[in-house]
Amino acid sequence: MKVFLAAVLFTAVAALRFDGDQVLTLFPQTPEQLRMIKEIGDVAGLVDFWKPDSAELVCIGQAVDIRVPRHFLKTIKAKLGLVNLHHETKIENVQQLVDGQFDVKAKSPRNSGYDYNVYHTYDEIVQWTNDMVNEYPALAQRAILTTSTEGRDVPYLVLGSSIDNPLFVIDCGIHAREWIAPAFCQYFTHRMLSQYGVDSVVTNMMDKMTWVIIPILNVDGYSYSWTDDRMWRKTRSNYGTVCSGVDANRNYDINWSGEGASTNPCSDTYCGPSVESEPVIKASSDHLRQHAAVTKAYIAFHSYSQVFVYPYSYAYEDTANADQLFTLSENASRVIYETTGKSYDWGPGYQSMYLVSGGSKDFAYNLGIPLSWTIELRDTGKFGFILPESEIAGNCEEMFQAMIVITDEAIRTPK
Ligand SMILES: [Zn+2]
Repeated sequence: MKVFLAAVLFTAVAALRFDGDQVLTLFPQTPEQLRMIKEIGDVAGLVDFWKPDSAELVCIGQAVDIRVPRHFLKTIKAKLGLVNLHHETKIENVQQLVDGQFDVKAKSPRNSGYDYNVYHTYDEIVQWTNDMVNEYPALAQRAILTTSTEGRDVPYLVLGSSIDNPLFVIDCGIHAREWIAPAFCQYFTHRMLSQYGVDSVVTNMMDKMTWVIIPILNVDGYSYSWTDDRMWRKTRSNYGTVCSGVDANRNYDINWSGEGASTNPCSDTYCGPSVESEPVIKASSDHLRQHAAVTKAYIAFHSYSQVFVYPYSYAYEDTANADQLFTLSENASRVIYETTGKSYDWGPGYQSMYLVSGGSKDFAYNLGIPLSWTIELRDTGKFGFILPESEIAGNCEEMFQAMIVITDEAIRTPK
């Protein structure tokens, strides 16, 4: 009995496990198959949409990745069979990937100094922001964007040889489970600081722009993805509903609650009870609004898919500078291919991804920030959100090269 109780108590505080869960790729071709996917998606907790972000966004002719919990596999596969919906098993056992994600840390657990090739917890990243300003006081400043719903600070760093240059704003970790994004923000920051005065390209980037880096925007969700549920995406707020969390990237004031956002609190694309309901999004929006007049570029880093997504996503509409964004994304993508051989796609959101209302890059663009992207980092689905640490270095290197291309254009773009 004691053993049983201990097991129950342990389960209550341990992180969710994904033993036997599979990720299936579906290829809906008919309205009937589409309806079936949406029907499956309507039942809260039955499956977890990896791509697109929720059942509402599924379209005929576009591949869909879903994580199916082990005990629902039989039911789901039977349902797919009913409408002859073909599927491929992309990931055989999700827990195996979760167990293997710390593959760099496992090899060198006692690495001295801050290791940019491993994933870090919220607390470690907060400490790291302090360490950066202490180590590079002439090039880095630190501030707190806001306090989250659960009372966590959201620190950010301002980098550059001057704080009076045009701004380049970057945020990472708006979606909790996309751990490679905060890893990139940390790598990028450290490379800019440590290579200033050493590497002429970095020195120029730091002399011509002022950088605002928010290493983790959705701090509550990110912490929760470490302690409770590796697959968590949303914030951790609750407005009196059965399901918790708001999709922070549907909460911005741009066609809020429109197409590509859900009003169902149990959906992974829930837009929230009101626009900017999430303290972190209110603060991010205010910051962008306050500095829009001097901001040339904005990027939100996400995963996965390897895509440069530029506005618009909330409508089938192109921006006035669509040609510039197309060419720049194409050039950045080419540099990545030359660096690591990885292929990145690009295009306006409505075409390269799917419709999204209330997303940050459309919001930023409409504030007058001309170069605005959501960038989806590695991979294309082999590991999905559970990208192993051994991929961090390569992903950061290729994206740093892309950032050089983008910054070059940002410097030349009038404001
Ligand atoms: Zn995301």
